[in-house]
Amino acid sequence: MTEKLQLRVLPAVAADELQLHVAISTAMRVDANRIKKVDLLRRSIDARQRQVMVNLTVNVHLDKIDDGFRRYEPVVYPDVAGKQEVIVVGAGPAGLFAALELIELGMKPVVLERGKDVDSRRRDMAAISREGIVNPDSNYCFGEGGAGAFSDGKLYTRSTKRGPVDKVLQIFHAHGASDAVLIDAHPHIGTDRLPVIIKAMRNTILNHGGEVHFNTRVTDLIFDKHRCVCGVITADGREFHGPVLLATGHSARDVYAMLKRCGIPMEAKGIAVGVRLEHPQELIDRIQYHSPKGRGKWLPAAEYSMLTRVDGRAVYSFCMCPGGVIIPAASEPGQLVVNGMSPSNRGTRWANSGMVVEILPEDLPEYDKYGELKMMYFQRDIEQRFFEAAGNTQCAPAQRMTDFVASRPSSTLPPSSYAPGVQPGRIDLLLPPFVAGRLQKGFEEFGRKARGFLTPDAALIGDETRTSSPVRVPRDKDSRCHVDVRGLYPVGEGAGYAGGIVSAAIDGINTAREIARAYLPSSL
Ligand SMILES: Cc1cc2nc3c(=O)[nH]c(=O)nc-3n(C[C@H](O)[C@H](O)[C@H](O)COP(=O)(O)OP(=O)(O)OC[C@H]3O[C@@H](n4cnc5c(N)ncnc54)[C@H](O)[C@@H]3O)c2cc1C
Repeated sequence: MTEKLQLRVLPAVAADELQLHVAISTAMRVDANRIKKVDLLRRSIDARQRQVMVNLTVNVHLDKIDDGFRRYEPVVYPDVAGKQEVIVVGAGPAGLFAALELIELGMKPVVLERGKDVDSRRRDMAAISREGIVNPDSNYCFGEGGAGAFSDGKLYTRSTKRGPVDKVLQIFHAHGASDAVLIDAHPHIGTDRLPVIIKAMRNTILNHGGEVHFNTRVTDLIFDKHRCVCGVITADGREFHGPVLLATGHSARDVYAMLKRCGIPMEAKGIAVGVRLEHPQELIDRIQYHSPKGRGKWLPAAEYSMLTRVDGRAVYSFCMCPGGVIIPAASEPGQLVVNGMSPSNRGTRWANSGMVVEILPEDLPEYDKYGELKMMYFQRDIEQRFFEAAGNTQCAPAQRMTDFVASRPSSTLPPSSYAPGVQPGRIDLLLPPFVAGRLQKGFEEFGRKARGFLTPDAALIGDETRTSSPVRVPRDKDSRCHVDVRGLYPVGEGAGYAGGIVSAAIDGINTAREIARAYLPSSL
């Protein structure tokens, strides 16, 4: 017999099997010897009160172990060799999950990825940190796994209404992620584990008749006589034919230029820009867990989330990486832009987070000359300004948080995780004034809300501009095809329909379903 139970326990109890069995037997009023096995179904930390608690949902096997318990039914993929082909451009989360869904539905994905396989990518990322060399096809944004491959691998999303979150988590789990991704309220995988999972996903695609081509940059679209997209051309002159699922992410500026050249309608979209803020993790632990002793032995590195409005625009933390590092995320030479990632144990001594200000297209009339690509040019200008301020290197300008708020230079900087190094810089002057001013006011408010958060021990490292797509490629709500151009399916973050690994994956899955509906009418 199994029974589902919800309980609220101290972190030390949640972490210890024996103590947990005792807590369960007390809650259920049964003899502890009757408890044969406990499956953890959900786990969340409640740090709102001084005493931090852990909320658990468990499945308790009483008297004997129920062998029939399954967390989910794994997908059985058919062989799609020889089936109708769909061209999937980009092997980020949107492209990979779309490819797997296409296989499940009986279509053959042909995945074209400009970058290298996830292992070979590492060398190019090391070159950015060590030598400041950015390979425009292989970097923290481009290559197998996309921008999500070397990240914190946070797998939570606010887009639960938009689609199959559980399916995304189950596919990650089926390809090697730990049980925790199915259990934790805020699951994450970690940059050390993501590559193994991504390789397993690639093998599922290959083993079931799909194709994956690395070092294959799409440079043009092929149109039929009705101006429907019916394929793509790659940088080496090859042609691939079929409906095109375009999942190229928000950093592929050459793809937006290609779409413009091909006359594909797009729209400028609001973005957010700012900096990465880096604190000592133990300071964040002390603040979030309300204890001068920090997180102690049983709690994970603490997270935070900050949000306010200043002068009509949102100022917020973005993609917080507890126990993580700041990384150089440029995707072309001549840019400086940072982001954050964490290992699975979130074990470094730093906590970093994007701290950004919302900017709408109407805020930048001086960029109107760039039309629908205006926000992209605005991002580019900030990235170039920071690169030049860094002496044309990846050694990022940095400023102590309190100096930034007071608009004064920092003569020294706290230690940082950012591998290419930091140098004192006037971030308050390098950012556009309407961004710097709002961030300054936002930081003062965050410091009031969380005592100790506004501190000289934290540094701003700049700049952070790649928080979302600067463009929306408009598509039909139902068919998910481009509103004006049949055969073209803009997907994921680059199309302006996702903001994160899970939402990009969901968008890929949902769009694959619509492609199957359109091209295999009997399949759904
Ligand atoms: C450092 C970092 C950390 C992050 N951490 C998190 C996190 O913890 N949690 C989270 O939810 N999100 C995180 N994100 C954001 C997340 O990675 C993205 O939202 C997500 O990857 C978007 O998925 P996508 O498939 O739409 O695009 P992408 O992941 O950007 O993938 C696009 C792919 O298309 C390829 N491509 C581009 N142009 C072409 C072309 N012309 N031809 C062929 N291929 C092309 C690229 O090489 C790339 O592989 C992070 C991002 C970064 C950069």
